[in-house]
Amino acid sequence: MIRFESLLEKVRSYSPEADLELLRRAYVFSALEHKGQVRHSGEPYLVHPLEVAHLLADMKLDVVALAAGLLHDVVEDTLTTPERIAELFGPEIAHVVEGVTKIGAIPFSSSEERQAENFRKMLLAMVDDIRVILVKLADRLHNMRTLHHLPEERAITIAQETLDIYAPIANRLGMSKVKNELEELSFRYLDPKAYEALRSKVEAKRRSAEGVIDALIVTIRAKLGDAQVPVMQLDGRIKRLYSIHLKLKRQKIDLDRVYDFVAIRVITQSVKDCYAALGIIHQTWSPVPGRIKDFIAMPRPNGYQSLHTSVISEHGFPFEVQIRSEEMHRRAEEGIAAHWKYKEGRIGDQRDERYFQWMRQLLEVQQEVRDPQEFLQNLKIDLYPEEVYIFTPKGEVRSLPRGATVVDFAYSIHTDLGNQCVGARVNGRMVPLRTRLQNGDIVEIVRQAGHKPSRDWLAFVVSSRARHKIKHVIQSEERTRSIELGRRLFDKEARRFDLNPKTLLESGELKTFASEYGAKSADELLAHIGYGKIAARTVLQKSAPSELREKRPDSRVVSVVKRVLRSGGAQSDKITVRGADDVLVFRARCCSPIRGERIVGYITRGKGVSVHSATCSNVLNLMFDPERRIEVEWDSATGEAPYTVRLTMQVEDRKGMLAEISAKVSDINTNITNMEARTGDDSQARIDMTVEIKDVKHLEKVIKSIKGVQGVLGVERTARS
Ligand code: MN
Repeated sequence: MIRFESLLEKVRSYSPEADLELLRRAYVFSALEHKGQVRHSGEPYLVHPLEVAHLLADMKLDVVALAAGLLHDVVEDTLTTPERIAELFGPEIAHVVEGVTKIGAIPFSSSEERQAENFRKMLLAMVDDIRVILVKLADRLHNMRTLHHLPEERAITIAQETLDIYAPIANRLGMSKVKNELEELSFRYLDPKAYEALRSKVEAKRRSAEGVIDALIVTIRAKLGDAQVPVMQLDGRIKRLYSIHLKLKRQKIDLDRVYDFVAIRVITQSVKDCYAALGIIHQTWSPVPGRIKDFIAMPRPNGYQSLHTSVISEHGFPFEVQIRSEEMHRRAEEGIAAHWKYKEGRIGDQRDERYFQWMRQLLEVQQEVRDPQEFLQNLKIDLYPEEVYIFTPKGEVRSLPRGATVVDFAYSIHTDLGNQCVGARVNGRMVPLRTRLQNGDIVEIVRQAGHKPSRDWLAFVVSSRARHKIKHVIQSEERTRSIELGRRLFDKEARRFDLNPKTLLESGELKTFASEYGAKSADELLAHIGYGKIAARTVLQKSAPSELREKRPDSRVVSVVKRVLRSGGAQSDKITVRGADDVLVFRARCCSPIRGERIVGYITRGKGVSVHSATCSNVLNLMFDPERRIEVEWDSATGEAPYTVRLTMQVEDRKGMLAEISAKVSDINTNITNMEARTGDDSQARIDMTVEIKDVKHLEKVIKSIKGVQGVLGVERTARS
């Protein structure tokens, strides 16, 4: 009861008009519901929600958050329903409680899918109402503080989850105080040996370090005083064990060689004072080159602002100095919670937009990404922002994840700029798109109207934003193509029965079928046909059942397709296939059929019709779904570019072999674009040759003439590499 009264006291101090009666009711209700329950520590359960509420009050949150903190375990651990909470405390509190309950419902560590799923839920809850995650963080913090009461195995699971998920989230929300404590506690449980060893080593150094710190503080205070730079707060401390631990691991060194395990913090008034203080520090001690960081001009992605420098004292003692204003300091410690305007019950400041931007972007990604592994990978990039700072030509600064490329940069500025980006000048020099950017690069994007992103980009972009935007364009293009293809297939099928496809597509029967099938519109149904998920004939049977019974199909060969196409690869062999329609067709990479060969078409998922040689092993291997097979024929049109075909031959290894073969091939007016020979150990050689071929007859001629060369043991057509 005393703890509760002191909670009210705390709230009153920062929010005199707060509805304390509401808190009292929540407390009483929680006490009743949890009555008889005890924690692992043996204490009454009620202690936990009460401590959580205290933590939330330390963040100076509003009564909704605090009441939710008091009630946060009620739905999960007692028979109370969310509806009951809503009835008693209003929909807002019920909503936050429900959000917290949902996040806690599945353990994160159980499997990757669940982890991803849980993260999605958490993100949704965060965007929905940030108080959900704040209550959850307070809940986790108190649980971590009391973790020693739990069985070891359970404690380790919770600590790992905290380090993997909750600490990074706190970090991303700028709440360094919470993040630091979560990390320290997790470290202690996850690696007790390393923790203990490091703790005792640091302890041994503490006494001498503390003497040095005191002396340094005296000097700094005097120097800043002389220069009339206001000092609001000045303290020194030994860095946190976990951050020292990471440093030791990263640099593979011993504590004795740790550069600066002491940090002095100078809190001053204005931005101007910060830079003035930095100047004075550097006049007093020598700065370590490359260790000056200006996070005031270039805030961290989570909003952190400060000046950092490392200097070496006159006695050769290295230490770090952090300089920031009071306002920056508050933001650095409390992050998003520092911005909470309890009166308005929402986040107030413009600057807070960045937190929401981050969450919205994450959410945008999660809606598209189906693969949990990929989702988590994206998330890791976003949660552990090891950043580089890049400048626009106008001098604006952007922070991007380490390893970011020109394309990532373009997308960080604008989606259109990303989509249309064809190159870039980095520090004045033209560079390829996949170029990884370095700190301080000045990047100017070269754009071309109408240019579209390519699938290849996905292999090198690192920001989830770029990845998401590129995928979005590719998917919508695929969809458009699939609808187009589906429409043509459907038209064709309808005409075979002398039916009007347009009328059919608008018919009630079709609409009924579409909705039964789960397609939202006729277009979506066509897209499914285009993707090969359903046959055009099936759709026709459903939309015009009676007509079909009466009519017999026209038995003319149904061929698709007339259009100049790009083949799947980078080469631009153009082919045309005979028919009346106009859809995207390309030669399959595996067999690259050439004119005159028997071919079959296969409806791909969103890329159009791929044309295989009828003897292609992929066709024979029944990889084909019969629904997706389609008849195709060669177009009679001539004059198109030749096909490149690769031939591999096994020959006797003798002098002049290569020259003889190439002469024979050239004799029949055939262009050789590439030829390579490799000698084996059995006095045989292998020759790979790429030739330009008009049609299948031409190819046969070429093969025959090669076989005519003495010493040729075999010729085979091989897939293009
Ligand atoms: Mn709890």
